[in-house]
Amino acid sequence: MSQKEKQVWLFAEGNASMRDLLGGKGANLAEMTNIGLPVPPGFVITTAVCNEYTRLGRLPDGLMEDVKTALKDVEAKMGKGFGDAKNPLLVSVRSGARFSMPGMMDTILNLGLNESTIEGLIKLTNDGRFVYDAYRRFVMMFGDVVLGVPKEKCEHLFSEMKEKLGAKQDTDVDADHLKELTQQFKSLIQSQIGRSFPNDPMEQLQLAIEAVFRSWNNPRAIVYRRREKISDDLGTAVNVQSMVFGNMGNDCGTGVAFTRNASNGDAHVFGEYLMNAQGEDVVAGVRTPMPIADLERENPKIYRQFDDICKKLEDHYHDMMDIEFTIETGRLYILQCRVGKRTGPAAVKIAVDMVREGRISKDEALLRVNPDMLDQCLHPVITPGSKYHVIARGLPAGPGAATGIAVFDAGRAAELGKGGKGQHVILVRADTSPDDLKGMLASEGVLTERGGMTSHAALVARGFGIPTVAGCTAIRVNDEARQFTADGAVIKEGDAISLNGTLGEVIEGAVEVQDPELTDEFGTLLQWANEKKRLGVRTNADTPADAELAIRFGAEGIGLCRTEHMFFAPERRPIVQAMILAETTEERKAQLDLLLPFQRSDFEGIFKAMAGRPVTVRLIDPPLHEFLPHLDELRVSVLELQLTDRSSPKLKEQEKLLHKVESMHEVNPMLGLRGVRLSILFPEIVEMQVTAIMEAAAALTKQGAEVHPEIMIPLVGTVNELSLIQSQLDAVVKKVLAKADVPVDYKFGTMIEVPRAALTAGEIAKYAEFFSFGTNDLTQTVYAISRDDAGTIISEYVEKKIFPADPFQTLDQVGVGRLMQICIEDAKKVRPDIKLGICGEHGGDPDTVKFCDRIGLTYVSCSPYRVPIARLAAAQAQIKTDHSADK
Ligand code: PEP
Ligand code: MG
Repeated sequence: MSQKEKQVWLFAEGNASMRDLLGGKGANLAEMTNIGLPVPPGFVITTAVCNEYTRLGRLPDGLMEDVKTALKDVEAKMGKGFGDAKNPLLVSVRSGARFSMPGMMDTILNLGLNESTIEGLIKLTNDGRFVYDAYRRFVMMFGDVVLGVPKEKCEHLFSEMKEKLGAKQDTDVDADHLKELTQQFKSLIQSQIGRSFPNDPMEQLQLAIEAVFRSWNNPRAIVYRRREKISDDLGTAVNVQSMVFGNMGNDCGTGVAFTRNASNGDAHVFGEYLMNAQGEDVVAGVRTPMPIADLERENPKIYRQFDDICKKLEDHYHDMMDIEFTIETGRLYILQCRVGKRTGPAAVKIAVDMVREGRISKDEALLRVNPDMLDQCLHPVITPGSKYHVIARGLPAGPGAATGIAVFDAGRAAELGKGGKGQHVILVRADTSPDDLKGMLASEGVLTERGGMTSHAALVARGFGIPTVAGCTAIRVNDEARQFTADGAVIKEGDAISLNGTLGEVIEGAVEVQDPELTDEFGTLLQWANEKKRLGVRTNADTPADAELAIRFGAEGIGLCRTEHMFFAPERRPIVQAMILAETTEERKAQLDLLLPFQRSDFEGIFKAMAGRPVTVRLIDPPLHEFLPHLDELRVSVLELQLTDRSSPKLKEQEKLLHKVESMHEVNPMLGLRGVRLSILFPEIVEMQVTAIMEAAAALTKQGAEVHPEIMIPLVGTVNELSLIQSQLDAVVKKVLAKADVPVDYKFGTMIEVPRAALTAGEIAKYAEFFSFGTNDLTQTVYAISRDDAGTIISEYVEKKIFPADPFQTLDQVGVGRLMQICIEDAKKVRPDIKLGICGEHGGDPDTVKFCDRIGLTYVSCSPYRVPIARLAAAQAQIKTDHSADK
């Protein structure tokens, strides 16, 4: 028979490259066998046989002969006989497709047990209870999977028996009763299927193989394949492997280990084991396992062998491996090995260490670390291994973990939290507004019921590194009662809660939180990333403190400085409000003159912090009413004054304010008077801003500093908007520079965040020296989904697979990305050296960063904490480009 048609492969005959034919599990068992690891012997029946079985409705001719031949080999290796009453070989029969489909198909353990082999096994193990327990499980499992008698029926019999005996747990039932129970199972099965339970191990094996093949087409496997887009034609392999037991005496044991520490990456074997136990004992926590280091004392020979195997595995796979092992009567067996899961800090350390040990190249190390995992190196995390109760899930808006007492208004948070009484507080709000900023900064974490990934809370939180869960529609915030409810729990002000902002989890009570530590290895890996990447990485920063933090994380410039955030400081707020409420341009200008020195010093601070790196300053963007009190609150306060104190002078003032706020009210402010439109209607505001920028730049240049301001005009939709405002502002620049009598290198550019701007980029690029894609607004306008109200819609859409992912988190490359590409192509025809950036929240998302590299952006810009993530993603993108160029 040709190799191609070979139906049964001993582990020793296969290898890791044969996943298509042997399935993932089979190929891996074969690989381990071939590198000399002590894997319990076995064989694989191929996926091709599965397809043949489906086609014929029976096993193909000659298959069971091949199985018997393979079984002989296994018997010889194990020194046991299949069906041998004195020294029985037992096997497991497991599914294993090309792609892992966890729990979707069937498995049968302890096959080969029957009325005579159990006697042999009892003699060997000296443990009747263990053997009868294994036997009753086998009969139940076989009855269910192979013979179609639902296991619930057997479980019911077991419950009845336990009740009769007054046994609380399964373990309270002794060997004799388990023996009786097994007989009851068998009679039940016989009455259901009209024949006796098969006693012949060979018949058991054939039926089990057929059942596993059938399970490829069971409903849950089909549904799983549809979801995961796995082809129905692949078929599953069947792995038949000898069982080994870790609970046959004191020279037996079982355990799980990692070849290096999976929490911190230390290069020492790490794990747990138990002597005279089976895997379930470790998992169920019936007994406390011992650290693997104890094995060195308890059984130095086995330990040495185990340690050697770990080294061998790492030499072979060039990675940290996760191993399941069993010791049966002094012999070590490896049951499974796979690349080990690890924390972010461990991933970084292991990757860098492996380069230093000469196991992998720098490129491989850069590819090994998932950029998102770097978050764990930068933010506090819940101490690994902690147990906690999640009461709600929302959007992972600001990574990191936080614990504190719940408070329900920003003022209270500021009073009790950082800068106040110094308590740890978590600010819980239905949503947040710029008013809440002080309270947010005083909090360890922020939780909001509404708002998406680009909501105010999320933007501020990410910028300042505050762990935040936003858009958590599973909670109900009741401000008046100062409490929220979630999953039946009522959390009142002062109750402890915790947040895991990395996963969007809301946790009842306090959890232990661990501070991050920036290690040498972290610095080294990111240094390698810089040596590799082409794409620039800038930061979104509005304050010198943010800018300094971002530089420490490796930012090469500021890609977005949102100037409106500077208007919220308490001493400026009244001036800003007076400016907005001004009746005449003169009055407005008078207030702007008061704001000018503040803005100038803001920019001086930022330019200084950036030490010669480019700084993109965006002129005012949001609608002005955002700086005024909320309409509803104002209405309530006017009404209260009208009812209680009609003569109060405050009433007149409040009524005037209300009138103004009402006149500025917009039904959809995100598409209203904001961005460049605001500048065209009230040019004096941006004239003041540009004066402040250029005066700051000129002053620093005179002091010998290097400054590169890039003035960015938001929300442009037509070239006429840009040409008009830019010429006005350029005149302001020239005036300032002429007065200061010093040259400053500056640029004018625009954000591309309105589809029309992207579609007319050729015209716009005649004026703009740079474009920065504002993908928050661009996503909102391309989809026509409001970024503030998107939360519920998007979670439903993602759940139903209408959207592959939240487009406000990961750029929609097909739609929004397509528009970006059209825009770039047209812009480059007019201005080949145009600088192109992205400053929406997507700028820190690894997949988006890779896309931006591919479409030729100059840089990405993201919040300071995402700068390292973007650097690593940019390096990975370059490695991929290098590889495809090599091919
Ligand atoms: C954007 O729209 O992508 C952007 C960066 O601007 P903002 O989020 O401030 O609207
Ligand atoms: Mg925008």
